[in-house]
Amino acid sequence: MRRGIALLLSFFFMMSQVQAYQLIMPTERKNCTTNDYAFLYGKAKSAEALTINGHSVYIAPNGAFAHSVKLHDGENRVIIRTLYGLMIYKYFKTTPARQEIAVENMEFTKAYVNHDNTPLRSEPIDAGLNRIGHLFGGTHIVVNGSKGSFYRVFLSKDKEAWIAKKDVTLTDEEFYPAEFINMDSERFKNAMIQTITFSKKLPYTVEDGEKEMIFRVYNPELSEESVYNLNIPKPEKYAYNITLDEGKYTFKVRKLTENIKEAVVVIDAGHGGSEKGAIGCLGDEEKDINLQIANQVAALLKKHDINVVMTRECDANLALEDRVNIAKENFADVFVSIHLNSIGDVPMDIHKKRGTSVYYFNNNSKALAEILERTVTRSAGTREDGVQTGSFAVIRPTEYAGVLVEAAYMTNPIDSTLYTNDKWIHKAAKGISDGIIQYLKK
Ligand SMILES: [Zn+2]
Repeated sequence: MRRGIALLLSFFFMMSQVQAYQLIMPTERKNCTTNDYAFLYGKAKSAEALTINGHSVYIAPNGAFAHSVKLHDGENRVIIRTLYGLMIYKYFKTTPARQEIAVENMEFTKAYVNHDNTPLRSEPIDAGLNRIGHLFGGTHIVVNGSKGSFYRVFLSKDKEAWIAKKDVTLTDEEFYPAEFINMDSERFKNAMIQTITFSKKLPYTVEDGEKEMIFRVYNPELSEESVYNLNIPKPEKYAYNITLDEGKYTFKVRKLTENIKEAVVVIDAGHGGSEKGAIGCLGDEEKDINLQIANQVAALLKKHDINVVMTRECDANLALEDRVNIAKENFADVFVSIHLNSIGDVPMDIHKKRGTSVYYFNNNSKALAEILERTVTRSAGTREDGVQTGSFAVIRPTEYAGVLVEAAYMTNPIDSTLYTNDKWIHKAAKGISDGIIQYLKK
C-alpha cells in the first residue's frame, strides 16, 4: 500500500513537473547552434517559480516568459528549475571559421545578365541594404574581378558594383559599344516620363536624391567615362518604375493621388498556410494575428470609401512574388504588409526588445513609415521600436509607397498580453488605417 502511495506521489510529481511550464522554444532537449545566445520562451503556470541557470524569470500575467542565455563554444547546459524539479537543455555551440576570400582581378570580360530583376550590389554580399539597382535580362555588362560567388562589374572609372555569378553568363564575344540613339521627356497627367534609347541593353543605377531622382546609364564599352545622367524632379509623394524595351529605357516618376477615394491601398497579411511566421510565447502563430489585424484595417479603410485590395483573406500560402504582383496589377499607391516581430539570436536584453517597428526600403516610402510608427504606437499603446530600413521583397518595388509594420513582438511576454487581446487587435488596426489615411491626405 505504501509503495502504491509512493508511486502515486511520484506520478503526481512527474505530472506537475510536466505542467509547470511549456517551452515553445527550443523544441529539442539537445541543440546545435552557431548563435551567441540560447533563446528560451514559452508559458508557465506558477507566477514565481521559474529560474533559468539560477536567474529568476519574469512571468507575465498570462504566463508568457522569455529568457536568453549567453553561450560559449562547446557544450552549454541550460537548467530550467521550477518548484517541482528541473529540466536540462543542452546547446552545443560552434563558431564557424571565417575565411576571408580575396578579390581576384580579371581581364575585362563581357557578360550578359540572365534574367530580369537581377540585383546589382555595392558589396559582394547577398544580404542587407546593398542593392544599388536591378538589371534586366539581356543587359550587356563588363566584369573585371571575382570574389567568392560574385563578379565585380565595371560601370565607369568611378563606379564599380557586384553581381552574383549565377545571374550572368560570360562570353568571349568582341566588345562593341552601344550607340546612343535618342532621349525624350514628356509630362503625362500626374507623371514625368523620361526615355533614353541605345542600340543595346546597358546597366543602370538609380539614386533617390533630396529633390530629384537620378537615373544613370553606363556604357563602359564606349569609354570608361561614358555615363548618361537623367535628373527628374520629384513630387513630395511619389512612386516610380523603370521599363526596358530592346535598348529603350522609360523612367516614369508618378505623383501619388491626393484624393483618398481614388487611391488604391493593398493590405498584405504576412505569411499564411504552412508558413506560420513567428510562434509566440503562448504558442500562437503569427499568420493568424496578421490576418485578424489586416481584415480590420481593410474594413476601417472601406468605411472611408478607399479602394482596398487584400493579398490574402484566408489562411492560405501566398508567395512573396504574388503579393508584389497583386499590388502592381492593381496600380497600388500604398502597400502595407502586416507582421508581428520575433527575436532569434539576441545580443540585447530581450525584455527591452518590444513594441512597434515599421520598415521601408526605398526613400519614397519613408514618410509613410514615419506616420505609421507614430499612429500605431499611439493607438495600440506599444513601445516605439522605431522606423527602420529593411530589404524585404514586398517593400523593395518602387511602384508604390510600401512599408512592413511589425506591430509587436510575439516573443516578448509583455507584448504577448497585447496581441492576444481582441481590443488590442482593433487598436492596432485603427492605428494602421489612421496612418494610411493621414499619409494619403498629406
Ligand atoms: Zn512575419
